[in-house]
Amino acid sequence: MKNLTIGVIGGGQLGQMICMACQKLGMKVVVFSDQGNSPATFVTSEVIVADYLDKKALKKFADLVDVITFEFENIPFETLDFLASKKPVHPNPNILKTTQNRILEKNFLNSIGIKTTDFAEISSLQDLEKKLEKFKKAILKTATMGYDGKGQYVLSSKEEAKKIFPKVKNQKLILEKFCKFSKEISVIVARSKSGEIACYEPLQNIHKSGILDESIYPSNISKKLESDAKKIASKIALKLDLIGVLAVEFFVVGDELLVNELAPRPHNSGHFSIDACLSSQFDQLARAISDLKLGSTKFYFSGYMKNLIGDEIYDVEKYLKNPNAKLHNYGKSEAKAGRKMGHVNILKSPLKPMLKPLAKS
Ligand code: ADP
Ligand code: MG
Repeated sequence: MKNLTIGVIGGGQLGQMICMACQKLGMKVVVFSDQGNSPATFVTSEVIVADYLDKKALKKFADLVDVITFEFENIPFETLDFLASKKPVHPNPNILKTTQNRILEKNFLNSIGIKTTDFAEISSLQDLEKKLEKFKKAILKTATMGYDGKGQYVLSSKEEAKKIFPKVKNQKLILEKFCKFSKEISVIVARSKSGEIACYEPLQNIHKSGILDESIYPSNISKKLESDAKKIASKIALKLDLIGVLAVEFFVVGDELLVNELAPRPHNSGHFSIDACLSSQFDQLARAISDLKLGSTKFYFSGYMKNLIGDEIYDVEKYLKNPNAKLHNYGKSEAKAGRKMGHVNILKSPLKPMLKPLAKS
């Protein structure tokens, strides 16, 4: 087997963990980032720091690698199309074109029979007021470029709408009915080049101020919902012709699942798989894009992942008193408010025997 060289677009912590998983499988990695001194650049010396639209630098990157993947979604189409004309990009850039835009994403989901919250495209204040009257309580979101709750406004009155609209009116907007969910869960699904699908069980996600704070396993939803969530995630992966890893975020409403959003890359809520599974979401991505057989998705431990956001990175000792806690510090130099600095996986109980007993020799 030839040791492939994987190109990773983006230098953040997801890029860092993609690189480390690829390296463990004997692959080489080259990172393309518009910022030096970022987490992925700490784990490889093969780094190109340039603007995402710098064609000369992109060509150099494409020449160095066999396969390209990415760690974030807001990559300019021009960049993706240019790279895809030179080397295989997995997941396919068309998937990003859909998932970069909350309106296209929801239209796609609805078109394949998957339920989402009610939503409307907003292009004027009149539009917003009319739809808000219908939804009563809703969230106005920028259709593109949002993450970690950024660009989102909860609205429940015309007065609030009037106040917020001028701030965002120059952007594409979506209004989503506010969903009174009982829980948020997510599922990570991997699909390889040859079409093999491996799906993790759902984790429950707890957000604080729109940012993921904890992901808990098991999610303690019914077996039926668990199986529905995995079926929906696998269906989406298939319909998108995914090669790579996809995260599907859900709202649990009664005995129904609504898809909140998709991310065609490893996801923060999948980090528990690094220590609780034999193959993490990052291992699966490395395998999927290089057409290796996918690994086991079984969780061998219950427990949870706690994000270390901003100053929380200075509290690590508190977690490390627990011998069953595993720290992942991304090495970022400045602990700005809201910035994801690291995470801790806290393993609770072993769940299943790791392997079948060995046959007697
Ligand atoms: P991001 O790209 O920032 O993760 P999300 O759409 O996932 O954007 O929103 C972040 C969080 O805000 C969600 O995980 C959920 O807790 C809350 N949220 C988003 N949309 C809705 C909604 N329609 N109803 C209720 N809560 C929502
Ligand atoms: Mg989200």
